Amino acid sequence: MPERGFPRFKSKNRFRSLVFPQLGNNCLDANKVKLPSIGWIKIRRSREYPSGFTPKQFQIVKRASGYYLMITFQSLESVPDPIAGKTSIGIDAGIESFLATTTELIKSPRFLRSQLKKLRTLQRRLKKKTKWSSNWLKLQNKISLFHEKVANTRRDWHFKLAHYLCDRADNIFVEDINFKSWSKSLFCKQSLDSGIGGFINDVLPFVCWKRGKFYLKVNKDGTSQECSKCGKHTGKKALNERMHICQYCNHTESRDTNSAKIIMQRGLVAVGRTVREKACGDGLAGIVQLNLSDLVKSH
Ligand SMILES: [Zn+2]
Repeated sequence: MPERGFPRFKSKNRFRSLVFPQLGNNCLDANKVKLPSIGWIKIRRSREYPSGFTPKQFQIVKRASGYYLMITFQSLESVPDPIAGKTSIGIDAGIESFLATTTELIKSPRFLRSQLKKLRTLQRRLKKKTKWSSNWLKLQNKISLFHEKVANTRRDWHFKLAHYLCDRADNIFVEDINFKSWSKSLFCKQSLDSGIGGFINDVLPFVCWKRGKFYLKVNKDGTSQECSKCGKHTGKKALNERMHICQYCNHTESRDTNSAKIIMQRGLVAVGRTVREKACGDGLAGIVQLNLSDLVKSH
């Protein structure tokens, strides 16, 4: 942090992105784009522009490896929201693993973990250098580039994982967790590095939408305390307690897959209600409202 009275240096997160929300007509060309009030600039296209879409927004993003232009396209056709299907899966943000489904624990892949380890080593080395010295700057630059590489690797894996989960079920239920407040607690450092919040809140709903899968967030409260077999409340678990052992029915399984099952059960109840509500008309007005707000939240 700069000391008081010194000019404030531009933090690395400021001015990293520039958004142009209103575009003129014919602002795209094969190798250049027209920025409002700036004019044509050359670009190197990484992919074809999609046909049948209109460009709605430009965003210029500065990354360690250079400047990138992100174009948001809008389709004039409306796409119906996916409706609930037959098979379901529940997903719980894991503590030891990346996430748990109703049947398996999914760990971050080894290559991602080793990249993160290398990143942490570099960051430790940076602390030993004199700030603003040429070695410090050199290392800082190396870290930024590596950071970008890790982010790309992670994003790539997140998309693959989202498709893998979509292959497994029609309905995907996740816990509605506030990752910002969660991230403040130290014990989740590991999970934060893995980017679980971005996966559950951004990547997964997008892939579900694309694949026509039903995505819904359900109440997360007490998922680790309920027994997925008998439904009884089994009391709070300490963080290091990895197994769920029910004192009422003796059901024993990994704490995280048990939570994923509770999430799936809650999701099914919510979906059941929406189906029932449509069949019964006004009879269940109170429940209808609850469901609608749940559904709005999820899209
Ligand atoms: Zn039980």
